[in-house]
Amino acid sequence: MPRTLDAELRRALAERIRFYNELGIYDFYRRGVPAGADTVVADLEVQDNQPESGDEMSPRKATAVAMPVAVEENIFEVIAPKPEQGVSDPAKALKIIREDLGDCTRCVLHRQGRKQIVFGVGNPKAELMFVGEGPGADEDQQGEPFVGRAGQLLNNMIKAMGITREQVYIANIVKCRPPGNRTPEREECDTCSPFLMRQIAVIKPRVVVALGAVAAKTLLAMNASMMQLRGRFYDFRPAGVRSPDWDGCKLAVTYHPAFLLRDPRQKGEAWKDLQMVMRELGLKAPEKATQ
Ligand code: SF4
Repeated sequence: MPRTLDAELRRALAERIRFYNELGIYDFYRRGVPAGADTVVADLEVQDNQPESGDEMSPRKATAVAMPVAVEENIFEVIAPKPEQGVSDPAKALKIIREDLGDCTRCVLHRQGRKQIVFGVGNPKAELMFVGEGPGADEDQQGEPFVGRAGQLLNNMIKAMGITREQVYIANIVKCRPPGNRTPEREECDTCSPFLMRQIAVIKPRVVVALGAVAAKTLLAMNASMMQLRGRFYDFRPAGVRSPDWDGCKLAVTYHPAFLLRDPRQKGEAWKDLQMVMRELGLKAPEKATQ
């Protein structure tokens, strides 16, 4: 029978691996499995039914807490060298990751009506990255993240920061559209996000902005409400990727633009988050910036 790792233990294990990674230690070796210890399968199913903010959002199945160590075997797999490592041109390195992804069938989303994989778009040397949850109908149709109404709002948010969409890089936690725009399941996030981690490690941004709870919880491997997650920077290094020439970046959390369309009253709060990012990057809003 599979044995389930305690959530706290998983969290502590992930933290310990990060700590070793920060010390430059990436290779781990597994001792023999003690008699009676079956394959460890972490059951990370988490339900928190927390809306992003307030009561306006209908309760939804919570995002998964995407631990980099969802399955014990993956602890070793995710820190293995990646084919793009050693490729100095980030555009070429991103291409290698895309080729590695292929016509991906790694999670169930590949057979739930996706038209195409939405890999990510933007400047391969971006200082600022935005990470959302997953493609919607427009994104699935066009093969580019954030091109629908939420994308228009994100464009406005980027413009208000005094930069353009072309200057940043935009991606999602999952690269295939969840049917009916449902929240991606934990297992889907766990399966897909290692590719995003590799994209981040190639781009080496100065700041990553997690758009919404799914992105924040997956990237940070922690479970907390948006209220708890917003308003501060986190030191971030993509889980499971060697980055000997990069110390990681800052990560900030703000509301997903789709949520802001549903609850425009939160735009002011999102603008505060973006202003914090602007200060970090030394950006100045254009004179007629709107929220
Ligand atoms: S969501 Fe990600 S892991 Fe799942 S099928 Fe699509 S590309 Fe593969």
